[in-house]
Amino acid sequence: MRSPESNVAAAQWSPSGSIGTGDLTAPGASVHGANVFGTEQQRHRLPKPIFRQLQATIDRGEPLNPDLADAVALAMKDWALERGATHYTHWFQPLTGWTAEKHDSFFSPEAGGSALAQFSGKELIKGEPDASSFPSGGVRATFEARGYTAWDPTSPAFIIENPNGAYLCIPTAFASWTGEALDKKIPLLRSMSALNDAALRALRLFGDTTSTRVYTTIGPEQEYFLLDERFFYARPDLVATGRTLFGAKPAKGQQLDDHYFGFIPERVLAYMLDVERELGKLGVPVKTRHNEVAPGQYEIAPVFENSNVGTDHQQLCMQVMQTVARRYGLVCLLHEKPFAGVNGSGKHNNWSMSTDEANLLDPGDTPHENMQFLFFATAVIRAVHTHQGLLRASIASAGQDHRLGANEAPPAIISIFLGKELEDVFRAIAAGEPAASVAREMMDLGAHVLPDLPRDTGDRNRTSPFAFTGNRFEFRAMGSSQSPSLPNTVLNTITAEAIDGLADELSEAMKSAPLGEALLEVIRDNFSTVGSIVFDGDGYSEEWHAEAAERGLKNLRTTPDALPELVSEETVGLFSAYNVLNARELHSRYEVLLEQYVIKVNIEAETSADIAATMLLPAAARHVATLKEAGLDALAAEATEMVEGFSTAIKALQDANLDENHPVDLLEEARYMRDGVIPAMNEVRDYADRLERVVTDDLWPLPRYAEMLFIR
Ligand code: ADP
Ligand code: MG
Repeated sequence: MRSPESNVAAAQWSPSGSIGTGDLTAPGASVHGANVFGTEQQRHRLPKPIFRQLQATIDRGEPLNPDLADAVALAMKDWALERGATHYTHWFQPLTGWTAEKHDSFFSPEAGGSALAQFSGKELIKGEPDASSFPSGGVRATFEARGYTAWDPTSPAFIIENPNGAYLCIPTAFASWTGEALDKKIPLLRSMSALNDAALRALRLFGDTTSTRVYTTIGPEQEYFLLDERFFYARPDLVATGRTLFGAKPAKGQQLDDHYFGFIPERVLAYMLDVERELGKLGVPVKTRHNEVAPGQYEIAPVFENSNVGTDHQQLCMQVMQTVARRYGLVCLLHEKPFAGVNGSGKHNNWSMSTDEANLLDPGDTPHENMQFLFFATAVIRAVHTHQGLLRASIASAGQDHRLGANEAPPAIISIFLGKELEDVFRAIAAGEPAASVAREMMDLGAHVLPDLPRDTGDRNRTSPFAFTGNRFEFRAMGSSQSPSLPNTVLNTITAEAIDGLADELSEAMKSAPLGEALLEVIRDNFSTVGSIVFDGDGYSEEWHAEAAERGLKNLRTTPDALPELVSEETVGLFSAYNVLNARELHSRYEVLLEQYVIKVNIEAETSADIAATMLLPAAARHVATLKEAGLDALAAEATEMVEGFSTAIKALQDANLDENHPVDLLEEARYMRDGVIPAMNEVRDYADRLERVVTDDLWPLPRYAEMLFIR
């Protein structure tokens, strides 16, 4: 495949309709939010009382008066038509992890041949997509196959543009007629509400009588690869599975560390500018861009938002990144591990809790803020310790199994990095006198308990799956292609439970001691049991695996190991106690995720066998023939042996793929994929990658790593 012409062609690009650089100080020059029916548009277009009511729903979660809907629908429709939208859709997030939409025209034909634009409150509030083909993990038997979508007024509607038109998207939740969640938005909203209740209750113990709500925030840093589309479409494995199933390591990989934060190539920068402009129009507050560690790898990060809007925006972000890439002859890969032997991609989930006034995970400047901070930080530590398995399960997928624990990403063992300063504070409190009395004295005297914690310094532990980063936690083990919804649903729910537990203990302790002392007592008691989750060393090291086992931490290496945590007794109890997911809803997610794992590995295995048998084996055979023709008998004999081994490995993989060899039980089947199919696939790859190094260059039918990663 290494034809010089094709590689030169792949390196060429032309700007597609320059977006240019105008005068950014000129009025109207900023496109930010241009395609969003946000607060400004609402204020502008809605009658005052309606605007105020809608704001109350959005800001304070007050129930929405259905009478409102007609007025909002009218304003929304007029706005959308002015922006060229002919259609609208309820936009939702089924359990596939992607978004779904079904477009309806605003226009209905009228007698006399004209068409009337219509859109009522009823259509805004509720939709009924024929949803029987979405995965539901058995929640919705086909005889009751209907599901409905319901408007989420807290996430603003937006317009998606296409060169040939536009349509209006209305963020919605997706439920069955029995009211069970069929999507990823409903549990997230429920978990935010659970955390709100718990945190407000705790704040009252600290004498806060004014805060009216606590919401969680996320800022997901998205990593991704770009490669020229010519290479992408020449690789059936990338097209079918999003990752390369073959490919020998290039001589030049990432050893030189010359890519991270390096100069951004012109075509890539042009792409990024376009993506950011498109996301800006959609109100997604993109802030940061840079090269990542691997060649061809980059990162984009928004400013954080509340978890619900942030999650919707993250879905839009992935969609826009993929769409815009094609304008530049590029393809955007979101897979967790597109190239073996090269760093994979994650999505660091920065997460915190906030009142309208303050970030609760910000240590603050006063002793009172310090105390509150310590309380909420302890809650997070306790939550992560108690539900480490569940948290691990929330990020499990076939793609993630190549990344987690692969010495480039956090290990599959969940632990927390606090940073030296904060860890010292906790250890001092947990150790009791005299260190704790120092802390107490400082509190009583009104001095700071906490040393100034470094915010956003370079002092990060890259190997930690869950790290405190100055005023938030960063869940770094999330996968790049994942919806942030489930991990954040879990994070919110387990933290709500921990806050409640701590609040119970604190109110009990406050019966006999003042707040400051009671708090130290509660932190000491908790940290001595849950502090074992705190680890500041090298998460990649072998020693850590041994030590973690000694500490009794879970090491759920693969998806089939992790997913059962979703339906463990503790999880079911927790999620129903907090009304986030009932047992059926949880089971449906477990089944869907398990099924996705099996299906994904199955597609990979079949694609792998096909490519090996129909592309690589023939190339290798031709190579052997050439050697024989040239009278190079020794080389031919060596190559023949490899080809024969390759052929046997392909046969074994094909056998492993046979339906009749798959267990019937889903979990058993998942284990079979892991223990039977994946090793067979690895064996095939092993031969192929060795052959790639010896087969005549122009006979090898697949673009190579060196081309895909470095030509841009
Ligand atoms: P780094 O790569 O150094 O970790 P970035 O600047 O790439 O940092 O990304 C940091 C992310 O953390 C941003 O998305 C930012 O908005 C987010 N963030 C900052 N504060 C909070 C917070 N309180 N809650 C959630 N996310 C936050
Ligand atoms: Mg970053």
